[in-house]
Amino acid sequence: MRIKFLGGAGEVGRAAVLVKTSAGSVLFDYGVNFDAEGRPIFPEHVRPKDLLGVVLSHAHLDHSGALPSLYVSIKPPIYATPLTMELSDVMYTDMIKLSGYYLPYTHEEVKAAMESAVPLTYGEPLELARDVTLTVYNAGHVPGSAVSVLEADGRVVVFTGDFNLRDTALLRGADIYNLPRHADVVIMEATYAAADHPPREKLEAEFVNAVKEVLEGGGVVLVPSFALGRAQELMLTLAKYDVGPIYVDGLARQVNTIVGRYPHLLNDYDLYKKALEMAVEIPNAYVRKAAMQEPSVIISPAGMLKGGASLYYFKRIAGDPRNAIILPSFQAPDTPGFQILSSGEAFVDRTAVKVNARIEWFDFSAHSGRRELVEFMRYFSGDTRIVLFHTEPNAAAGLAGRLAEEGVDNIYMPLAVGEELEL
Ligand SMILES: [Zn+2]
Ligand SMILES: [Zn+2]
Repeated sequence: MRIKFLGGAGEVGRAAVLVKTSAGSVLFDYGVNFDAEGRPIFPEHVRPKDLLGVVLSHAHLDHSGALPSLYVSIKPPIYATPLTMELSDVMYTDMIKLSGYYLPYTHEEVKAAMESAVPLTYGEPLELARDVTLTVYNAGHVPGSAVSVLEADGRVVVFTGDFNLRDTALLRGADIYNLPRHADVVIMEATYAAADHPPREKLEAEFVNAVKEVLEGGGVVLVPSFALGRAQELMLTLAKYDVGPIYVDGLARQVNTIVGRYPHLLNDYDLYKKALEMAVEIPNAYVRKAAMQEPSVIISPAGMLKGGASLYYFKRIAGDPRNAIILPSFQAPDTPGFQILSSGEAFVDRTAVKVNARIEWFDFSAHSGRRELVEFMRYFSGDTRIVLFHTEPNAAAGLAGRLAEEGVDNIYMPLAVGEELEL
């Protein structure tokens, strides 16, 4: 068996791993990354006719964004949870709207991909070919996300996709205790190889207190947020503490509705229903203005203030010190979100916007932190090969180095696209 890294090697994003078995190849994820101008960067090409199928871990574009490009003529099956497929469909529609010009696919290929879906259920093995078996488990990252176990050629491969071991308001933590301890190789995301997350309850309380202070002072809180996962997590956190009014804008509205159809996948469906009842969806620009006329919390994409409705609100509320901009996630360098955190002003449409509003940052990550990554690695036997994937090379090297001092010598880090590992 050979494993080829088509993307995500020494890089956060563009996840794509090809597992070559004697019966054919299985592709795990086929995502995109984005350059500084926001243009998509694709993984290494793969021939659809060589594929037994594609396993899609979840609907974030850094795992799914390149997939429709494979659906031009031959259409390999896509193995994913039904929720991941539904969410991917709306993510693709949004991506074509925003970056269609740069994409090697259209709505037609997206439709072909959707028609190639084979639904997966957590914990139920599925035979992809003779003696090639796939089983997925809850990954705890976003609704529908899956950790995969592939058995073929007498080998066991685990592919985590993005995963979170800890419970959140939205999801139960990843179900790792059903994974085979003696797997031959574990390909794991290590986005947070260099950082621990704060305890969740403390984080929630601090976030809610900051929001309350602004509302009590008569201000508006803008929370620029990713549409899938983060937006729901924040709605639930506010609902849990009865803080509002909450407005939700952009793609998050569609995601809210789709996720609500899968109550069994949620940590607390009653809380989810309560959050949906509390949150007012913004259907048009008129309501956008109304939302800012009273103290309120507005949750809106894009997560790093790079575009979308969040920029509309940002320009209008940034000048008033009663207001606040609360960033609930990692901000990539060169994004307006990063700029306001580092200098208190951002360049939007080539003009500098000075922020007088309060600026806060909270680590509402849906990934395992360093502590959880180590806990996960220790679950497996000493003979299991651990591949650190979907991570910055320096962060991964730091973690591997620290573990090497403790005698751990089974870690592998692919650093370049096209690298192969033989089992
Ligand atoms: Zn993700
Ligand atoms: Zn990812």
